[in-house]
Amino acid sequence: MKIIMLGAPGAGKGTQAKKIAAKYNIPHISTGDIFRANIKNGTELGNKAKTYMDQGLLVPDELVVDLVVDRVRQEDCVNGYVLDGFPRTIPQAEALDKALAAIGEKIDHAIDVNVPDENIVHRMSGRRACVGCGATYHLEYAPTKEEGICDACGKELILRDDDKPETVKKRLGVYHEQTQPLIDYYTNAGILKTVDGTIDINDVFQAIVDILGE
Ligand code: ADP
Ligand code: AMP
Repeated sequence: MKIIMLGAPGAGKGTQAKKIAAKYNIPHISTGDIFRANIKNGTELGNKAKTYMDQGLLVPDELVVDLVVDRVRQEDCVNGYVLDGFPRTIPQAEALDKALAAIGEKIDHAIDVNVPDENIVHRMSGRRACVGCGATYHLEYAPTKEEGICDACGKELILRDDDKPETVKKRLGVYHEQTQPLIDYYTNAGILKTVDGTIDINDVFQAIVDILGE
């Protein structure tokens, strides 16, 4: 099962993608996580990506497409995967379709997690990410057992620089301009399904399972 998660920054793509990956036993591939790991390790890719990410801009297509195409060709992807944060532009979607078609494959489901802009800034200001393992929490909606400490690995939690309100507003503008056209792209491909992302995390997941099947 090959799945794409669509939605505004902070809509809950990563939260749901992790749950999908666990239930269907497929890898969760987050381009944002890949870039953040590269930044942490001080790689050339990380240094390049950081200049865009800090400004709330998209990393150029040429830095992300090959990375994802290589990743989905790895052995652990034979039974499918859930892509989170990719594609984010029409050229990225076209490049992915082309690379998959070349090996006789295609995306099965594109799931749009729909959350209005009004909810996003509040949601992002409460998001906390672990500096160690990258796990994501929310101060109100998905709190840790001990405040400021990751449940999974015990490391410290931080507010991502790009989750500060000014950058979130910029990222929302970028989303509407460059990523939202993918809704039409996957509607035309006949594989788009929309779920309400404003309800409880587990209820969003149930709606997704209803689409994907038990
Ligand atoms: P994305 O991957 O789309 O950027 P995340 O999955 O990181 O978004 O979710 C953004 C923030 O909102 C996180 O802090 C997460 O815990 C919280 N969150 C995710 N889904 C919901 C939901 N259905 N209701 C309330 N908060 C949510
Ligand atoms: P995310 O963790 O998905 O919110 O991504 C964080 C940031 O990484 C985005 O704001 C972009 O700057 C960059 N990024 C992640 N995925 C992509 C992508 N597919 N194309 C371009 N930039 C991306």
